[in-house]
Amino acid sequence: MAFELPPLPYEKSALEPHISENTLNFHYGKHHQGYVTKLNAAIEGTDLDGKSLEEVITAVSGDSSKSGIFNNAAQVWNHTFYWHSMKPGGGGAPTGKVAELINRDFGSYEEFKKAFKDKGATQFGSGWAWLVSAGGKLHVTNTLNAHTPVEDADATPLLTMDVWEHAYYLDYQNDRPGYIDHFLDNLVNWDFANENLG
Ligand code: MN
Repeated sequence: MAFELPPLPYEKSALEPHISENTLNFHYGKHHQGYVTKLNAAIEGTDLDGKSLEEVITAVSGDSSKSGIFNNAAQVWNHTFYWHSMKPGGGGAPTGKVAELINRDFGSYEEFKKAFKDKGATQFGSGWAWLVSAGGKLHVTNTLNAHTPVEDADATPLLTMDVWEHAYYLDYQNDRPGYIDHFLDNLVNWDFANENLG
């Protein structure tokens, strides 16, 4: 029972001009696919074979002898969550329940934006910026490399932004803050964040 690359929720050109079809050809078609392929090869015939992706991630989280499995499993999960965290014509101020909670916990959308942008821009090296719900409050966090809030039983991830260079280098070169601005202003899928609030 091998894992499969989940379909993108839109066409590869749908996020242009903010994220190009060329980036998605590599990022989805090569990087995300590569994590799926390596994960399947690593767990075939082991006691992890047949478990859900979340079960694999939590089973090997923190076990340095299984870091290869962890990295590929978490990257498969994170990328699927990232594709859904964006939509064509997205971005800008939130709507629905998440808008109320952002105002309650950050003071305003502008304050949230500053905090999220800071988490993305200051993540040294490769990683992810997140909006999560934990302990009855919304928080922005960042994680290194493949790390993910799925490892934290108390956190519910609402949105993520990939800040690995492969997410933006073809379109923005070294301008990570420019990529983050486009993500926030033009791509964020607030409907997805609201669904994840449950
Ligand atoms: Mn990526």
